[in-house]
Amino acid sequence: MGIAVQIRHNGGPEVLELVQVAVGEPGPGQVRIRHHAVGLNFIDVYQRSGLYSLPMPLSLGMEGAGVVEAVGEGVQHLGVGDRVAYASNPPGSYSEVRVMPAMCVCRLPDAIAFETAAAMMLKGLTAQYLLKKCIPVEGLAPGDAVLFHAAAGGVGLIACQWARAMGLQLIATAGSDEKCALALANGAAHAINYRSENFAERVQEITGGQGVKVVYDSVGKDTWEGSLACLRRFGLMVSFGNASGPVAPFAPAVLAAKSLYVTRQTLFSHITSREATQAMADDLFAVVESGAVKIHIDQRYPLAEVRQAHLDLEARRTTGSTILLP
Ligand code: NDP
Repeated sequence: MGIAVQIRHNGGPEVLELVQVAVGEPGPGQVRIRHHAVGLNFIDVYQRSGLYSLPMPLSLGMEGAGVVEAVGEGVQHLGVGDRVAYASNPPGSYSEVRVMPAMCVCRLPDAIAFETAAAMMLKGLTAQYLLKKCIPVEGLAPGDAVLFHAAAGGVGLIACQWARAMGLQLIATAGSDEKCALALANGAAHAINYRSENFAERVQEITGGQGVKVVYDSVGKDTWEGSLACLRRFGLMVSFGNASGPVAPFAPAVLAAKSLYVTRQTLFSHITSREATQAMADDLFAVVESGAVKIHIDQRYPLAEVRQAHLDLEARRTTGSTILLP
């Protein structure tokens, strides 16, 4: 038995409930993990609210770190007692202990603490594929300008630092002057408060009218049009979230003036095999161990205060990563 956070129907943070769940032995290809720390992600909000629809009752949480307690048949890469971390689909990390597919679980280097790992797996693997795999047709080279929205958030602060390490000129947007300062302190070359300034105009000024090669847009509805306006010819729009609401349907003809590319990405298309997941995780572990990317855990809550954690994330009160402690 263990405590877990579940919802029985979609709604606001009030639908999040602590329940006792039976946790059995892992089946073939599964492991049982006792969590030391759990990551909070904006996708948890979409699943709770119903923007992303999943069967009920639903255990939430896609990111965690802890120790392997039991290993199912056929699992080769993990053993009892291993320190591990993961970004997982299906959800269920908001829990003391869970059984889950071993495929997406990685052994943790000794130098990376559980809390750090829980704060960086889903967000860091996302920054990894955004910067390394979503490449514009002309390629990405040091000195290239890219625009990254919500840059002071969990994914955002990792992306700022990683982009700097790659030599990119990352233009950040964020929702307050304090958040802009945080993005700049973490490697952004420029920062725009998109609640007080027209970010599309500012990007044109900063790039001398050229525009950027890539826009990374997780804000969605509120930024979509401005983001397209920021791109240079043959630029790439990477849509990967909807914090302000989903993007409205659009006509492909709007891309014609600059022959733009658009992609809607999700991490879970990238981590479909053990090898792919491990390769991406190794890249993330290396950049964190090198010190080039530091993981900012700016909020910690006991698991029992998960409702407050959701309230704060949705109200844009958080920066960097948030963890829940079982
Ligand atoms: P963040 O910590 O970045 O929190 C979301 C941020 O979005 C807020 O802090 C806020 O920053 C900004 N925002 C802009 N408009 C709104 C709004 N109307 N309501 C709430 N927030 C708003 O979250 P995560 O790091 O967990 O995730 C960042 C984004 O990336 C999310 O949209 C998430 O869904 C997406 N994502 C997508 C993945 C994928 O593979 N497709 C994987 C991981 C994350 P500010 O105040 O600065 O505007």
